[in-house]
Amino acid sequence: MIPIFNSKRQYDQIGSEVESAVCEVLRSGCYILGPNVKALESELAEYIGCKYTVALNSGTDALHIALRALDIGAGDEVITTAFTFVATAEAIGIVGAKPVFVDIDPDTFNIDPSKIEAAITPRTKAIIPVHLYGQPCDMDAIMDIAHRHNLRVIEDCCQAIGSTYKGQKVGTFGDIGCYSFYPTKNLGAMGDGGLCTVNSETLRDRLISLRNHGSMVRYHNDELGVNSRLDEIQAAILRVKAKHIDEWNSKRREIASYYNKLFASCSDIQTPKELDNTYCVYHQYTVKIPNRDEVHKMLGENGVGAMLYYPIPLHLQKVNAFVGMGVGSLPVTEKNTECVISLPMFPELTKEEQDIVAKTLIECIEKSKSAACC
Ligand SMILES: *Cc1c(COP(=O)(O)O)cnc(C)c1O
Repeated sequence: MIPIFNSKRQYDQIGSEVESAVCEVLRSGCYILGPNVKALESELAEYIGCKYTVALNSGTDALHIALRALDIGAGDEVITTAFTFVATAEAIGIVGAKPVFVDIDPDTFNIDPSKIEAAITPRTKAIIPVHLYGQPCDMDAIMDIAHRHNLRVIEDCCQAIGSTYKGQKVGTFGDIGCYSFYPTKNLGAMGDGGLCTVNSETLRDRLISLRNHGSMVRYHNDELGVNSRLDEIQAAILRVKAKHIDEWNSKRREIASYYNKLFASCSDIQTPKELDNTYCVYHQYTVKIPNRDEVHKMLGENGVGAMLYYPIPLHLQKVNAFVGMGVGSLPVTEKNTECVISLPMFPELTKEEQDIVAKTLIECIEKSKSAACC
C-alpha cells in the first residue's frame, strides 16, 4: 500500500532529536506556556515574517479566537469558501456569525475574488480566504476589496506554512493568519497545535488573553475566553521540526513537478495550476479526473491511498443548513467536489512509488471509461 501520508518515515529522520527535546521538557517540570512556547512563537514570527505569533491548541481554535479578537459575532457575516475543511466555517458559526460562501476558481481551488463583492452586505465584517492545498490565494485582489469595503481579513493558512505570494509568506497580508500543527500538516506536531500570526500589538494582547480564559493578569478575567494553550512538549517537537520545513516543502514541490511530468500526456488528468509569483507548498497534490468515485475505489483496491478533499462542499453540509444555500448555488465548487482526488504526497515519497501511483491512476481511469461505455 502506498499511503497518502506517512509520518513514520519522517520520524526516522528526526526521532532521536525529538526524543531528547521531549525528555528535556519532561525533566524540566514546566509543561504549559513555558520557554519552548515562547521560543517557538518568536522563531515562527521570524520565519513567517510577522511581528508576533500566538501559539494555540489547534488551527480551529486559531480561527475562532481570531474572529473573537476582531469582535466578530452574532449578527455579523463572514465571507469564505465552501471548498475547505469544515473548521473554517465552523469557527464562524461558533462565534455566532454567519458564513457566506462564495464560489471558487476552478483551477486554483481557492475563493474567486471576482465573486466576493456581490456577496458583501451591510452585515459583512470579514473575509476568510483559505490557501487550500498550500496554494496561495490572490491576496492583492482580496486585500483591495477588503480595504475598499473596510472588512477584516483572516487568512486560513492551515495547509500553507511556507507558501508565498509575491515573495511574502501567507498569513502576513490580512489582520490575522491562522495555522494548524495537526500531525498531517506540512509542519505537524505529535498531537494538536495551532498558531495565530499578527502585526498589531493590541490584537496580539487580545489573542493572548482569549487563549487563557480572557485573562491577562492571573485571576483577573475581563471577558469570556477559552483554554487554548499550547503545551511545552508539542512546542519542543515543533521547534525541532520547524528547522526542516523549507527542505520538506521543497521536496513536496519536486514530487509535484514529477507527478506533473508523469501525467503530462494524459488528457484525462487535470494537474494543479500554480498562479504566477506564488510558491505553493503542496500540502496536497490534487488532480481532477473523470469517473472519480469509481476510480477512487479502484485505486484503493490496487494499493494506492488516495483521498477526497473534499467530497461534500460546506454549504451542503447539514451543520450549515442555516446559511440557506442549496444545491446549485455554488456551481464551480459543487463540480469540483465531484472530480477532485488527492494523491500520495509527503516529503519522503519515492520516485518509484510515484511511478506506481501514476501508472495505477492512468490504468484505473482507462478501465473506468471502458466499463462506462459497455
Ligand atoms: C486542518 C485545517 C483546519 C483545522 O486545523 P486543526 O488544527 O485540525 O484544528 C482548518 N482549516 C483548514 C483549511 C485545515 O486544513
